Parts: sequence; structure tokens; C-alpha cells
Amino acid sequence: MPAIREMVHEVRVQIDLNRCIGCGLCTQVCPVDNFEVREVDGAKKAFTTEGANERCFCCKACEVVCPTQAVVIFEGLK
Ligand code: SF4
Ligand code: SF4
Repeated sequence: MPAIREMVHEVRVQIDLNRCIGCGLCTQVCPVDNFEVREVDGAKKAFTTEGANERCFCCKACEVVCPTQAVVIFEGLK
């Protein structure tokens, strides 16, 4: 049976693609490889990797390092 914290606590790793400039800093700092940079329509953009929400432990390094505030870690109740 999952811990109560896992039943009620939700984490979402969100990237605003309009803000992202594809610098890749988030891919370098995340300890659990939650980001990858891909080229879309000729522009580099960051995307979350599969299972990112489950792996994220809210260290917030990605939020801190992102130069354009494109990454937001949402923590809330389910
Ligand atoms: S650090 Fe921010 S701007 Fe740079 S690739 Fe990641 S989300 Fe995009
Ligand atoms: S908060 Fe930490 S663990 Fe979560 S995505 Fe950002 S860098 Fe990775």
C-alpha cells in the first residue's frame, strides 16, 4: 500500500515552451535526468522525459538554473 504522502501529494514538472530557449541547462542540473532538448521546427526546446513527475523530488535546481523561468515545479494535492 502506498504511503499516504504518495496518495495525496502530486508533483508536476512543467515547461513553458514559449519561454524555453533550449539552452540545455536543465538537462545538466537535474539529478534524475528529467529533461531532454529536442529540435522542433528548427528551434531547440526542452521536454520532460517519460516518468519525470514520478522521479522528481523537488530539489528545484531546474527552476533556479533556467534563465527564462520556463520551468515550474508544481507541488500540490491530488
Ligand atoms: S534551462 Fe530553461 S530555457 Fe534552458 S532548456 Fe531548460 S527549460 Fe529551456
Ligand atoms: S526539481 Fe530537481 S529533481 Fe525535479 S525536475 Fe527539477 S532538477 Fe529534476
